[in-house]
Amino acid sequence: MKEGWEAVIGMEIHAQLATATKIFCGCAVETGGEPNSNTCPVCLGLPGALPVLNENVIELGARAALALGLEVQGTSIFARKNYFYPDLPKGYQISQYDKPFSANGTLTIMTSERDASGHATEWKPMNIHIQRMHLEEDAGKNVHEGLPDVDKYSYVDLNRAGTPLGEIVTSPDFRTSWQAYDYVNHVRRALQWVGASDADMEKGNLRCEANVSVRKIGETDFNNKVELKNLNSVRFMQKAIEFEIERQIAAHEADEPVAQETRLWDEKNNQTRVMRSKEDAHDYRYFPEPDLQPLKVTPDFVENVKARMPELPDVMRDRFMETYQLSYSDASQLVGDRSFAEYYETVARISANPKLAANWILGEFTRELNSSGKTADESLTTAEDLAELVITVEAGKINNNQAKEVFAEMFATGKPAAKVIEEKGFEQISDTSAIERIVDDVIASSEANVAAYRGGNDKLFGFFVGQVMKASQGKANPKVVNDILRHRLVG
Ligand SMILES: [Zn+2]
Repeated sequence: MKEGWEAVIGMEIHAQLATATKIFCGCAVETGGEPNSNTCPVCLGLPGALPVLNENVIELGARAALALGLEVQGTSIFARKNYFYPDLPKGYQISQYDKPFSANGTLTIMTSERDASGHATEWKPMNIHIQRMHLEEDAGKNVHEGLPDVDKYSYVDLNRAGTPLGEIVTSPDFRTSWQAYDYVNHVRRALQWVGASDADMEKGNLRCEANVSVRKIGETDFNNKVELKNLNSVRFMQKAIEFEIERQIAAHEADEPVAQETRLWDEKNNQTRVMRSKEDAHDYRYFPEPDLQPLKVTPDFVENVKARMPELPDVMRDRFMETYQLSYSDASQLVGDRSFAEYYETVARISANPKLAANWILGEFTRELNSSGKTADESLTTAEDLAELVITVEAGKINNNQAKEVFAEMFATGKPAAKVIEEKGFEQISDTSAIERIVDDVIASSEANVAAYRGGNDKLFGFFVGQVMKASQGKANPKVVNDILRHRLVG
């Protein structure tokens, strides 16, 4: 950012709560179905149909709120947000306005600027004030399909109408695009972690908007802000914010006005462009929804939800650093998602070697997950089986290259370490005295063959190797066996 300037950025995130059914009716929340197949009089907005609040929305809303440091409010009020749009059949959206479901949160995120190659320079904690997370229903979708000028048609698909959303709104606390980037990633992981939302931006169940303005450092007033919308990935969002900061600084310096407007990220041309101007700003005429009671949530309910929540990722990261003596970087990567973190902890505990376990998890295991597109909980290799491999490596029974080969087979087939090691003949008895004893036994019990070999029948050498390998159950190091046999058979 140009010297002497700072950005002022506020974030709004719409997260789809991971319920099986919609917020005010029993229709399934599904993607990919036939258009308008998951609809009923309530979500079609037919006259006289009445909304009934889905209880699971309260549970998942509370989980989301607690994971983001928000206070769940004792009473919240649903309100009608009035506007006209084809994908909103009622002519209003049921949302919350002056009494939201949760409010007043402080969230500590870790954030870092990035160098030219995109690497984090220094991770630091930063407190973000989250003003509120309210509950609302999603609208449907206007779909435009076909080829321009040939077979173009549009229709409204109301399968998404009535899908539950939590809208999370921060104060304008961010000063750089990377802070906003790290915040969205933090929120995304937190919501997935507690099972509140799938939070997948590509699937549209996490959507962000950024409000961006710039001002000279030291100024306290805000300049006109631009709202950035339709950001399909966290990276595009970061790029869009970055572009917008530079664009606005240049405009201010040239004494050109910065219009208060909504802009989109144009991925092809790497720039933002106008979606709509301020003249379109709505007066939503909010008023309390007469068809729904105020939502009452008791402290007992909140305590109960809290008691069933998993340990949150940052707490877990700090505990990993403390208990297992891991670096900040390793511990942060291990808590990248919940099943991965839990997988690690099981391996660390059973193997009693947290450092070696971390190396395996962040090395081979991550490599296999990435190339197979699996998550930790989809891995055929259980944490117990990987722990067994770690123990075997630590005991020096197989070497590191063998262990990698064994693990690749374990990951592909789900076989336990011992089985693969046996199949590959890797678990070696490298102790020469143990092999010497076996060789001596074999020679002593094969007098006739020994005599024949010594008489010139070289082919019998393979017989002796086979006997020794059999006696060692395939575990003798073949090279050591060969050396000892040659030596002993000379006689
Ligand atoms: Zn419905």
